Amino acid sequence: MLNDLSILIIGGDNRYVEVMKELAQEGATVYIAGYDTLTEDVDALHTNLKHVNFSKLDALLLPVSGTNSEGEVELAPFSKTKLKLTEKMVNQTKKECTIYTGISNSFLEAIAERTDRKLVPLFTRDDMAILNSIPTAEGTLALAMEETDTMIHGSNVLVLGFGRVGLTVAKLFASVGAQVGVSARKAADLARIKEMGLKPIHVNKIEQEAANHDILINTIPSLVVDKKVLAAVSTSSLIIDLASAPGGVDFEVAKEKGIKAIHALGLPGKVAPKSAGKIIADVLIELLKEDNTSLK
Ligand code: NAP
Repeated sequence: MLNDLSILIIGGDNRYVEVMKELAQEGATVYIAGYDTLTEDVDALHTNLKHVNFSKLDALLLPVSGTNSEGEVELAPFSKTKLKLTEKMVNQTKKECTIYTGISNSFLEAIAERTDRKLVPLFTRDDMAILNSIPTAEGTLALAMEETDTMIHGSNVLVLGFGRVGLTVAKLFASVGAQVGVSARKAADLARIKEMGLKPIHVNKIEQEAANHDILINTIPSLVVDKKVLAAVSTSSLIIDLASAPGGVDFEVAKEKGIKAIHALGLPGKVAPKSAGKIIADVLIELLKEDNTSLK
């Protein structure tokens, strides 16, 4: 149980509604800032950043996308006002207060260093990224079904990247009968792709292989679907880019060529907010218990 803990959630989307419920169920006192328009009844105390007593806090939770380089929380769809985390706020917290965020940036790292507070970027953790890849893959499959007029079964799908998301996406599309090729650069990854019964394609060969696929799904956070690759892609193909901004596809060139290319971000929050929120909550609760061993 998290009975003695006070946690402030600053902004966040509908996934965090599940997080606040789970934290409250564990007995934590949950304060929420930036949920002015939330209609659901949750066991949390609405607050305003101006009125928070930071000295009581054991943990701060920032949205999945963290803050921008000025500390502004951009993912706060329930907030009527702008939310900004400042060094002054963090300085007022307990020395042991931990800052949890989805992803980090140099602003958060600098604040954590200057205030000597622990900063935990949840989404760089393997457990979180692997579990989160499940709703991501399901969302990708749903999108591919919506955006094509043919069955996924039997279609040629090229998955770029064989990390936590690429692997799950490749497996899911193969399981519904797609012919899946996966592009990677490490020999071990190419061997594993072959072992899984999928077609291994070295990243150097994407340009040659692109023409043979109906659907391209990119998970590589680097410009891999560039002008050269797009020159080979058929105008009837669908490209889904999952890589976080700026993504890995030259969208301008794709548009010029008349290729449908979608930058599909935040899929877990869109297709399965409750499950995605539960995934975040489970990992967060474990970490809070680890950090506060007296609570176990
Ligand atoms: P990951 O585990 O780090 O995997 C990244 C993959 O890209 C690895 O196979 C890596 O190969 C490869 N790669 C990286 N840079 C490359 C380069 N320059 N050339 C060729 N290959 C390269 O990351 P992940 O957890 O799968 O996440 C992938 C992306 O999806 C991230 O941008 C993440 O933020 C995003 N994401 C999006 C959603 C969504 O809803 N759209 C949901 C979850 C995650 P090596 O192992 O050889 O480096």
